[in-house]
Formats: sequence, structure tokens, C-alpha cells
Amino acid sequence: MIQFGLIGASQIAQFGVIPAIRAQADARVLSVFSSHPERGKAYAETCQIPKVFNSLDELLADPEIQAVYISTTNELHHAQTLKAARAGKHILCEKPLAMSLAQGREMVQVCQEAGVVLATNHHLRNAGTLRKIRELIQTGAVGKPIAARVFHAVYLREDLQSWRINKPQAGGGVVLDIVVHDVDLLRFLLNAEPIEVTSFSQHFGMGENVEDGSMAVFRFDNGLLAQVHTAFTVRYAGNGIEIHGTEGSIIAKGALHQSSTGEVLLRNAQGEQVIETESADLHAGGVRRFLDAIQGKGMPAATGEDGLRSMAAALACLESARMGCKQAIII
Ligand code: NDP
Repeated sequence: MIQFGLIGASQIAQFGVIPAIRAQADARVLSVFSSHPERGKAYAETCQIPKVFNSLDELLADPEIQAVYISTTNELHHAQTLKAARAGKHILCEKPLAMSLAQGREMVQVCQEAGVVLATNHHLRNAGTLRKIRELIQTGAVGKPIAARVFHAVYLREDLQSWRINKPQAGGGVVLDIVVHDVDLLRFLLNAEPIEVTSFSQHFGMGENVEDGSMAVFRFDNGLLAQVHTAFTVRYAGNGIEIHGTEGSIIAKGALHQSSTGEVLLRNAQGEQVIETESADLHAGGVRRFLDAIQGKGMPAATGEDGLRSMAAALACLESARMGCKQAIII
């Protein structure tokens, strides 16, 4: 039985990852750390978590926990990961992994040195629809991929309109929130790395000192160009991803959610075919791969290195918009 301590009394833990841990036969949520004593207590009661700590050091000193899930705001991930690794705990960390490349590199290195697993919660990698698209690409269904388009503009729910829209120092803004997922998804689907980006950002009334819309074009090391549209301000766009290759195109609609939904269509010289996909719990899939990795069976769905690479692309996207010119993506 692997027992988890939660670092951060967050919504994503409550509605995504706690149920995902509880869906596993060999894992349990034992404790939670919150920096707000009263809220932490109420959260532990609501989520039925046996132990609550207001000191991270105390949670990490508990020999009963082997793993932590970090879902605090983004500026805290770095220091909390280093502490947890040095305490010998395996770490499932939320995206973006950190706020800078130097921090991300240090997280990966310290976890390696401590001999603990570092995973990044890029949940989309566990979606049945998206895994099917990856399989189609890998088995040559579209030939050589030429271009991709990601549509991921949403209207940010009111209960999420806090640090995401007004706290740049916490990693607010749509790029570190959504573009980082989209780049990670493209890396996963294409088995290729983004090497440069050019982007524009938008301030359409929701973001205070952070962008609330972004359009970016990434060039990948296999020559593919990917266009990525993200926003907090667009109510009715829906979401989707398209992969266009020499022999065919894959068009997926409604596939970029917290749950495994959406339709996948393959279009080629034979016509159009609706592709069957399996539904899966995205967070449960990520937790399962993390637990397996702890037990020496394979790799996490997204490793610390994946978190670092996808964050590097998102940071370059921000820098491109700020500088008004293309940016190389450097790890
Ligand atoms: P929340 O805003 O719910 O929580 C973040 C932190 O804010 C908590 O750790 C908590 O601090 C504090 N907090 C929460 N609610 C309140 C409140 N009512 N009053 C005061 N403070 C509060 O964050 P999210 O769940 O939206 O996101 C957390 C992390 O997870 C981020 O890194 C985000 O990018 C990532 N995320 C990932 C998703 C995915 O699909 N992979 C989806 C959504 C988020 P404390 O713990 O000290 O009490």
C-alpha cells in the first residue's frame, strides 16, 4: 500500500486526483498539508483525509507516507519538490512543473540524486481518445505528419478566476495554464520536440497583468508546424486537435477535457472513418503509471523531464509574445 501526503488543499486534488488515488487498490490518501489551518481542517473533513498538517516539514517527516502529490499554486512547486525529494518521497507534481527552466532542471536533478520518482500530471496523455490518435500516428495512418492545430480556448469557470487571472508571480495566465498541456500533448502524440515558437498574447478583460488569450505557432524537430489557440475568455469555441499528414488527417473534437471524451475522425483517400476509442479516467491513469513507476514497473505517463520540456516550450511562448519575435526552445 502506497500512502500519499497531499501538498496543497486544491480543487484539482479534491475533484481529480484524490478520487484517482482512491480508485487504486494499492494506494491511500493519508494526509494533507495546507498553509491555512482552518481551511486545511475543513478540507480534510470534507475529503475524509485522516491527517492534516500546517507544516510541510511535519507532513514530510511522517514515515507512513511514501509519495506526495503537489497541487499548490505554481510558484511553490519547486521548493516543495526539493523538500519532498530530500525527505525520500516520490513526487507527482502538477503542471507547470515550475516557474523557470533553472528551477525545473534542479527539480529533475535533485529527484534523480535522491532516487525518487518525479512525475508531472499532464493528464491528457491518459485519455483514450488521445492515446488512440497517438497509436494511429505511430502506425502510419496519416503518413508523415506535416501540421497540427490545437483549439483549446475556454471560458474560465468563475471559481477558477483567482490566482490564474491576477497573480503572475503564481504562474497565472493562459500560457502556463493551458499551452503547457497542449505542447505536452503534441510532444506525446508526435514523439517529437518543439524547437522554436512565435506567439501573440491577448488581454481581453479577464486577465489582470497576465494574458488571457494566446495564439502560438511551434516548429517541431521533425519539421511539423503546430498552431495552438488558447484562451480564458471564449465561451463557445469547443476544443479539439487536428493532425495533418501526407496520407491523411485526424480530426478530434471535444477531446481536451478533464474526462476522456470526444470524437475522432480519420480522413484519407478512402474517405472518412469514425475511430472507436476507449473511455478512461485521466487522473486515475496518471496515478496508476506513477504507482507502477514507484514499484519499478515502467515510467510515469509524463516524467519530470517531460514536465521540464513542456514548461520550457510554454516559457518560450510567453517570451516570444513579450519580445515580439520568435524564440528558440532551450532545455
Ligand atoms: P486551487 O486554487 O484550488 O488551489 C491552489 C492553492 O490555493 C491551494 O494549495 C490552497 O493553499 C490555496 N487555496 C485554495 N482554495 C482557497 C481558498 N478558498 N482560499 C484561500 N486559498 C485557497 O488550485 P487548482 O486546483 O485550480 O490548481 C492547483 C495546481 O494544479 C496548479 O498548479 C494548476 O496548474 C494545477 N492544475 C492541473 C490540472 C490538470 O488537469 N493537470 C487541472 C487544474 C489545476 P493551501 O494548500 O496552502 O491551503
